[in-house]
Amino acid sequence: MIKDYLKMVAIFLLIFISINLEVNKVIPPVMGYVFCTLYVVFGFMAYQKHGLPYIKKMYIVSIAVQLLFFMAIPYWLIKNNMALNISWPLYPEVLWAAGGLLAWYAVVSFVFVPVVVFLFGRRAWCTFICGTGVLAETLGNDYRTFGSKAKAPSPGFVALKWIVLVLTVVFTVLAFSGFTREKAFGLAFMIVFILLLRTLLMQAVNIILMPKLGTRIWCKYFCPQGLLIGLISRMGRFALVKDESLCMRCGICNQHCSMSIDITGGPAVNRSGECVGCGVCVEVCPRKALSMTTGAISGVEKSWHAGKKF
Ligand code: SF4
Ligand code: SF4
Repeated sequence: MIKDYLKMVAIFLLIFISINLEVNKVIPPVMGYVFCTLYVVFGFMAYQKHGLPYIKKMYIVSIAVQLLFFMAIPYWLIKNNMALNISWPLYPEVLWAAGGLLAWYAVVSFVFVPVVVFLFGRRAWCTFICGTGVLAETLGNDYRTFGSKAKAPSPGFVALKWIVLVLTVVFTVLAFSGFTREKAFGLAFMIVFILLLRTLLMQAVNIILMPKLGTRIWCKYFCPQGLLIGLISRMGRFALVKDESLCMRCGICNQHCSMSIDITGGPAVNRSGECVGCGVCVEVCPRKALSMTTGAISGVEKSWHAGKKF
């Protein structure tokens, strides 16, 4: 366990130093190299440990997305100082500091994300595209069974996400009202978004406490984007489906769910909005009682949908 903590502290420090080598950039290239190295190294190790074809494809696609949109296209091709796979509200500054790419970030934030999440579920962004989600699936793969299970975040954490979301709206409105030139605006943005949210919660807590609380700490307890995406996903087409006639209530799926969803005790067709579609519960279920679907399940959502292809 001590070895795990030391590894995570070292990785956090590596990320922290790489960011601060070029503080004038939102996501500096050095940080891009560090993150991409982590994705590839830990992603390769995680890829080897899983057997479900869906999960193997997930690793290939999500790492390729990072290499292309987090690194190659923005930094090497178009010489932009921000990754292309980030969006409002997690990175509100893309709407006022993105220069010529404002249209890109606006479309990604307000059109692409809602549409793909509605069609394919929260996994479309949180597992395949978001860099923090991909770090959780790669670096955090060995810590899926750690932390509390089958327990939704307390109302306090949900309220915190709403507070961050409201703050993001306030900062965005202020930025478009011309306040970005004010020193107080820059200072407040630095304290709230850079120091508290990103450095402390999204990086330090999310990485260093993995051996204690499991992977996806940020996604589960703090992410304001996850809050919005979860709401859309709940109304969308994605569902985790359980065949009640096969399930023997062993709880193995719950033990492996990094989002602490109560799959065992949950409904046969689960649209919690929290599921990030990692596929691990489907893989570990000894009775093959679980499947994921993006097909419309209308009327009475019966458990016999489980296990069928849609
Ligand atoms: S792992 Fe499978 S059999 Fe066990 S509780 Fe979960 S769905 Fe049921
Ligand atoms: S419910 Fe299954 S697919 Fe969804 S996040 Fe949990 S383990 Fe992953």
